[in-house]
Amino acid sequence: LPWTEDVSELMAQRLSPWITQTLRRLGRRAEEMSLKAYVVGGFVRDLLLGKENQDLDIVIEGDALSFIKSWEADGCRVAVHERYRTGTIVFPGGRKIDVATARREFYEYPVALPKVVGDSLKHDLYRRDFTVNSMAISINGTSWGTLIDYFGGRRDLQKRQLRVLHNLSFVEDPTRVLRGLRLKHRLGFEFEDNTVRLIKSAIKGGLLALLSGTRVKNELKLIFLEERAYPIVLEMVHLGIFEALFPGIKIDRNCLRVIRRLSFFLRRIHYDLPDMGDKVWLAFLAAVLFSSAEWVQEATIDKLHLSKPDREAVERALNDLGTAENAVGGRVIRSHEEIYFFLEDVPYVTALFWAAATEQWRVRRRILLFLTRLHRIHPILMGRDLIELGYPKGALIGKILDELLRARLRGEVETREDEIRWIKKHYPLYVLKKG
Ligand code: ATP
Repeated sequence: LPWTEDVSELMAQRLSPWITQTLRRLGRRAEEMSLKAYVVGGFVRDLLLGKENQDLDIVIEGDALSFIKSWEADGCRVAVHERYRTGTIVFPGGRKIDVATARREFYEYPVALPKVVGDSLKHDLYRRDFTVNSMAISINGTSWGTLIDYFGGRRDLQKRQLRVLHNLSFVEDPTRVLRGLRLKHRLGFEFEDNTVRLIKSAIKGGLLALLSGTRVKNELKLIFLEERAYPIVLEMVHLGIFEALFPGIKIDRNCLRVIRRLSFFLRRIHYDLPDMGDKVWLAFLAAVLFSSAEWVQEATIDKLHLSKPDREAVERALNDLGTAENAVGGRVIRSHEEIYFFLEDVPYVTALFWAAATEQWRVRRRILLFLTRLHRIHPILMGRDLIELGYPKGALIGKILDELLRARLRGEVETREDEIRWIKKHYPLYVLKKG
């Protein structure tokens, strides 16, 4: 029997009105359909830790598909995977909730197994990565707020430790090693002793090499996008995870220095940087590959199945650092115009990588100047303003705007009136009319 505990009071204190209301509605609907519904996983963990988490993962005992589809009548959009009996409900306003059918290993032969209440939930939770993620809270009306903990998640949470549910966990899914490291550093937890042993033997046994490039990519991306990416990468290096994933890779102090600088930039000047979305991870990938032989760099990029633009951004980062240093570095004064037009067509992540990878402080300062300020500069006037001023539609307008941008970068114009004056002076209309 699982450990149970009433956490409804905690839910009332901690959860936002929308989350509470939504969980109530989901629970009521489940009750009407004679199903049992639970919120599970990271949400429960974070609730008990007092951390905000908006990602609701719902597990249904019984068939989740009919449950999910029933929400269409409430103005929700729904999507289902018939095969996995899972799906998503998208509420008006855009909030998404994942709903799954509690799965048993032997799902295909349900008749062979007598249905025991609570049994399929236990099986579902048993397939999860760490005990702290294996707890559920009932949201049905009658048992609202009952925490269900089969595997000692509550205790491990108190001990601030990550523990796998069984010894074959990493054999079943080696990405859990990477998930574990991410979670450990995010929460400031430790791995429990046996789990450490299993992680080491999974790495030594070559299990990580079996993962598909796409799965590795997804996990690396999540790690590099963490706020505290640097210590995770350090620990991955100590454990030999990169070598296990990418044979022949060489990670030295230079790589680590670049990664530390990237983390620093992202923490300190994040709000001044252009929005790179999740592409930022590519700068970290380039940093990891910085000291490796070219064939290793290529093999790694191949294995990760990067899209063409992503691949080009990483290759350019690695191949053209010297070019960038020559173009914007040195003791000579580089005008804003010069810096801008060298970096204008460079992907932002590539430039970000160069700023972190160069050992020349002038290069770093100038690239960061571009990324934090120059990239945003553009003329106040737009094409249609020029047409209103009497300039003909066509290529000329683009040219004038380009020249105007240069003038602005040189500091020759400030206001809209300055710009009009500048244009009239350099492109007088009478010259145009004469042809
Ligand atoms: P995060 O860990 O990023 O805060 P989360 O814990 O909600 O988010 P998700 O990736 O959304 O994690 O996964 C939801 C739940 O599914 C997790 O709490 C975990 O229990 C389980 N899970 C996810 N990936 C795996 C996996 N590879 N093996 C086992 N369980 C997994």
